[in-house]
Amino acid sequence: MTQWKKILQKSVTSPEEIAHRFEIDCNVLDTVLATFPMRINSYYLGLIKTVGDPIWKQAVPDPKEIRDSVCMPDPLAEEDLSPIPNLVHKYPDRVLFLVTNECAMYCRFCTRKRKVGTARMQITQDTIQAGIDYIRDNKQIREVLISGGDPLLLTDEKLDSILTRLRSIPTLEVIRIGTRVPCTLPMRVTKELTAVLKKHHPLYINTHFNHPDELTQEAARACNLLADAGIPLGCQTVLLKGVNDDSETLRSLFLGLLRLRVKPYYLFQADLTKGTNHFRTHTESGIAIMGQLIGNISGMAIPTYALDAPDGGGKIPLTPDYIVDKGDDLRFHNYLGKLCTYPENGDPL
Ligand SMILES: *Cc1c(COP(=O)(O)O)cnc(C)c1O
Ligand code: SF4
Repeated sequence: MTQWKKILQKSVTSPEEIAHRFEIDCNVLDTVLATFPMRINSYYLGLIKTVGDPIWKQAVPDPKEIRDSVCMPDPLAEEDLSPIPNLVHKYPDRVLFLVTNECAMYCRFCTRKRKVGTARMQITQDTIQAGIDYIRDNKQIREVLISGGDPLLLTDEKLDSILTRLRSIPTLEVIRIGTRVPCTLPMRVTKELTAVLKKHHPLYINTHFNHPDELTQEAARACNLLADAGIPLGCQTVLLKGVNDDSETLRSLFLGLLRLRVKPYYLFQADLTKGTNHFRTHTESGIAIMGQLIGNISGMAIPTYALDAPDGGGKIPLTPDYIVDKGDDLRFHNYLGKLCTYPENGDPL
């Protein structure tokens, strides 16, 4: 068995194992696990330094998950926007294609918490082939975003087969894979895997890191292998209360990602997903954090802070308000708060 499969096999999946390892009482978690699955592989478990730290909060279930009376199972209306099972067609030129229901670690804040890692997400060879056929039949689709679950939990052979079939579609230009594996199970990124991926360019990977403690040597090795295979790397971070909702943590994360050749792409406002309400911050605090980062660090390290609108409205950028007045002159604050003016209609000099 390969190393990454062994690490996955050693995952913590029951409250007793958590209780034993951290010497705490976890009985209450049984009721949470009846609704939402837990899987913490031994690599990610090893990143926890203390009970309740930012790694713990992402991985270990919390009784608040089943007391959430505010949020909804499917806030982005993904099921309504699926012309066939496991394919979400929301924007005209790109689709989200779910190819597995498994992840290397079940994130407590997952947007697809209603079904990821459970029998409520049924993916078969037939649903995968139906997705590929849909993309072939709908010629306006320029890009496919392969997600799940985590696509990199598929074997190299299965992944190669899906990518090969997608690449045979002449109207499909770009393949994008969304994966948390470089963060949660970096050993999965092997030379054999990168050899498969690089056959299918232009192929992009958006990964998902949320905290600087996740930027380990193993994660660096994984990102390095992918970047060396010519794969442009982006990161989709989620803004999470108690995990990364302060500008110092995010500054350190985003600059650390740049050093690994990963471009911060999105910082997501937490979705209204049932079981994740305790992670939500006010959008004002996210906008304030962006204001503290923009201009102060490299623009390369600045993601778009985005809110995925409820009911499938799509992603909306949230930005600090720089504009003070829009008359004949545009008046605005710069990143330091200094008032600046740009004449819109002045006579040419
Ligand atoms: C986020 C998302 C995309 C991709 O959006 P980008 O802004 O291009 O990253 C595509 N389809 C669905 C359904 C999505 O949720
Ligand atoms: S890796 Fe992604 S899909 Fe899987 S549980 Fe985490 S957020 Fe959800």
